[in-house]
Amino acid sequence: MKEFDYIIIGAGCAGLSLAYELEINEKLKDKTLAIIEPRIEYKKDKTWSFWKVAAHNFDDCVKKSWKNFTINIPKKTNHLECISYPYQSIDSGLFYEKINNKIKENKNIYFFKDISEINSKNSFVFNSVPTIKKDDRNLWQHFCGVEIETQNNFFDDGIFNLMDFDCDQRESVHFFYTLPYSKKTALIETTWLSRMNDGFQKDYDSQIKDYIENYLKLKNYKIIYKEEGAIPLFYPTYEKEKNKINIGTAGGMTRLSTGYTFLNIQEHSKYICKNIENISNAKKFEINKKYQYLDDIFLRVLDKNPEMMPEIFFKMFKCSPKAVIKFLSNKSNFLEDLSIILKMPKITFIKALFY
Ligand SMILES: Cc1cc2nc3c(=O)[nH]c(=O)nc-3n(C[C@H](O)[C@H](O)[C@H](O)COP(=O)(O)OP(=O)(O)OC[C@H]3O[C@@H](n4cnc5c(N)ncnc54)[C@H](O)[C@@H]3O)c2cc1C
Repeated sequence: MKEFDYIIIGAGCAGLSLAYELEINEKLKDKTLAIIEPRIEYKKDKTWSFWKVAAHNFDDCVKKSWKNFTINIPKKTNHLECISYPYQSIDSGLFYEKINNKIKENKNIYFFKDISEINSKNSFVFNSVPTIKKDDRNLWQHFCGVEIETQNNFFDDGIFNLMDFDCDQRESVHFFYTLPYSKKTALIETTWLSRMNDGFQKDYDSQIKDYIENYLKLKNYKIIYKEEGAIPLFYPTYEKEKNKINIGTAGGMTRLSTGYTFLNIQEHSKYICKNIENISNAKKFEINKKYQYLDDIFLRVLDKNPEMMPEIFFKMFKCSPKAVIKFLSNKSNFLEDLSIILKMPKITFIKALFY
């Protein structure tokens, strides 16, 4: 069986981002790479959105970007600006196409459907397939979104809605998220932060229909795309192995308080690429421990006090939006952290230290 210098297991966001980074930096001229991916075909299956706090390779896959957004709870709306860090939405279909076209050109890159087709004993492995042990206490961000097209102009495409908590909470944390791509098209998502132990919150279709028709009061529209997913708000099981690094969700690249993962994956890919010649000895790349600690407390509060969360998120955005965006994107400094921490209900957060 054939052997390779490197193996990437799973060619989704992280696997492809890494392959692309290695390819454009000419790290695969004299090295071989096997990519293991069971998909038969690639099509758009996700929309990756984030505040652009760092450069990445995929500006040409951006479907839309915004410099204004809102967050709201019943009877209150906060309008915010994000001029320094625009919010971008990447179309996964364009992303897959761009990368696959590029890496296909390199004869040192081979594609397989299953790891059993190759000899992996002497290779360095980058694994993006997470091991998730079932635990009913785990929190998830689970959601379903539809892209709709209206007959007439309806949306203001200059401003997106990050979180609309003016909806049924079902003793959990629930909000709608709306990304207007144009005056006639928008992605509308119903999002839950919960333990996801039963199907109680999974009537996504009727939640979205009700929101569009009775809350937005929009009748003439059609659904042109749908996506559904669940992001673990905990770290998948990780076993340290000498010649293996986990990447993507499997590699702890999700910011647990928000689910944002895409930009962390890009930074991890750049880090691996920079250290590829000595990758076995490179220090583990991870989200700064400060955020891991703060997110842990935040999620404990969320788990115990879901009814407080709309107000807590709303209050957080009463700080300077630039500080909040930097905080949520792992780029804040001490004073910015402090400004956010001081907006939180102190007794609730102190109690959470002892749960
Ligand atoms: C619908 C959805 C929307 C999201 N939106 C955002 C967002 O807006 N912003 C953000 O920052 N994050 C978002 N995320 C979170 C995160 O960015 C994505 O989940 C991202 O795709 C994670 O990349 P990944 O490579 O770890 O996993 P994936 O992209 O899921 O890639 C894993 C790959 O492994 C393959 N695979 C599975 N089993 C095997 C196997 N046994 N062997 C080999 N390969 C296998 C899969 O086919 C897949 O291609 C979203 C997640 C989902 C599910």
